Amino acid sequence: MPMVACSLRTYLWSSAATPLKRPRGRSTTMNDERDWTDGGTVLQGQHCRSGHAWYLPRRRCPFCGGAAEWFEPSGRGRIFAATTVHRRADGGEGEIGIALVDLDEGIRIMARCAPGTTIGARVRVSPQEDNSSGRMVPACEAEA
Ligand SMILES: [Zn+2]
Repeated sequence: MPMVACSLRTYLWSSAATPLKRPRGRSTTMNDERDWTDGGTVLQGQHCRSGHAWYLPRRRCPFCGGAAEWFEPSGRGRIFAATTVHRRADGGEGEIGIALVDLDEGIRIMARCAPGTTIGARVRVSPQEDNSSGRMVPACEAEA
């Protein structure tokens, strides 16, 4: 459904619409460790010198055009939205949870979660191997 995709895109970008204080994660470069989208095992966000932070790689800040710098977020955050998918796109068995997570560093990412995860719950996100596809995907674990 295209409308869902548009709404999701809006949600993904809206968290970084307001300048935030500089992300606290470790500054790094894309070549240090590979991001999960590139088959690696880490999450990487980007920020500019004006304090904007965003997720998904770009050469320039989508808000002010400043140079992009990499950082590695802690993965800690709070569930912004969650849903349970009963019919998986990958044809796998069982239901899965999908969540939008606002990380403490000011970026919002999509991740797998346990079905029934509640909005507002504190979680830690890290790339984990998907059982059915074998690919790395961000997944939430409840924070102790
Ligand atoms: Zn910026």
